[in-house]
Amino acid sequence: MYLCDFAPEYVRAIQPYQPGKPISELARELALDERSVIKLASNENPLGTSPLALEAMNNALKEVARYPDGSGFDLKVALSERYAVSANQIILGNGSNDVLDLAARVFLKPGAAAVYSQHAFAIYPLLVQAIGANGISVPARDYGHDIAAMLDAITPETRIVFIANPNNPTGTIANTDDLLHFLEHVSRDVLVILDEAYYEYLPKANKTNSVTWLKQFTNLLVTRTFSKAYGLAGIRVGFGLAHPDVANLMNRVRQPFNVSSIGLAGALAALQDIEFVQRAYALNRAGMLQLTDGLRKLGIEYIPSYGNFITFHIAGDHSNAIKVNQSLLRQGVIVRPLGIYEMPCHLRASIGLESENQKFLKSLEHAIGELA
Ligand SMILES: *Cc1c(COP(=O)(O)O)cnc(C)c1O
Repeated sequence: MYLCDFAPEYVRAIQPYQPGKPISELARELALDERSVIKLASNENPLGTSPLALEAMNNALKEVARYPDGSGFDLKVALSERYAVSANQIILGNGSNDVLDLAARVFLKPGAAAVYSQHAFAIYPLLVQAIGANGISVPARDYGHDIAAMLDAITPETRIVFIANPNNPTGTIANTDDLLHFLEHVSRDVLVILDEAYYEYLPKANKTNSVTWLKQFTNLLVTRTFSKAYGLAGIRVGFGLAHPDVANLMNRVRQPFNVSSIGLAGALAALQDIEFVQRAYALNRAGMLQLTDGLRKLGIEYIPSYGNFITFHIAGDHSNAIKVNQSLLRQGVIVRPLGIYEMPCHLRASIGLESENQKFLKSLEHAIGELA
């Protein structure tokens, strides 16, 4: 038999994740100048990276002949101080994607199940499928998670529930009371993953106290990332906070050096640069207003978003959304089509710099005009 036919059926059935198109790829395809292309497709930080983090990473370059500190000691100390948890509650990952993967590998196996919402982050079903476990997708409500229905969807085989808060790509958030009610009623033998990749972009009034909930709920895993507000997507650092027993198991299955030395140094410095995160927050708020204003003026419906991106609706047949996306690409603007999210009439744009948002809105107006 052919080697690849021995790979488990559930692995062969995986549809690979489609990342946002890189600027270099579009520039190559359309013979555009890279500098004229704007990428609003992967929720990256338009401000770039904290200068403190850049300096720390530069210094760390001198030591790259050595393996990183596999325990991530310094970063864990800083995180434990910041979040008032103990170091043995922290799991560091090669991006928070890695942390989610570790949780799936610890708690899932063929025959087990995981619950997530329709229109939720596409990585969840991928991780579940890679293990041969069953994914239970719960219909969304107004594009957001239907937390009560997710509770009802839990089966005896369910070991993980994924909750993205805010969710990507819809930007929706869950009501804090609903989340607490969920945590109080879900069986303690189900791991609840609160994926808070966009936490730093939330206004104070919308921030949950998820980290303090860890004291009460031994089955809670909170994940955060340095990829978004901290501007370190390329260096891949994220972390999870959980009960020490959960963290311990997750740390057993991770690669011993899953976070690079550059990543550890960059994240540690970025964590101290509070001013940078505040600037990222303020720019995002202003950019969100600019985009929602602009979309409204164009008569385009959007889903109110709490992230650093906004998802909007292209009226008519879903071929219209494809056409608008193609027109945007021709104009050097990369956004994210959402067909794989069962939202074929929607596109998602990340909030950029003011000038990028303006170019996006102008290009979108032109693209809509081309439809007529
Ligand atoms: C971007 C994102 C992540 C984080 O990805 P990293 O691996 O940390 O870069 C996690 N969850 C959601 C919902 C995201 O949008």
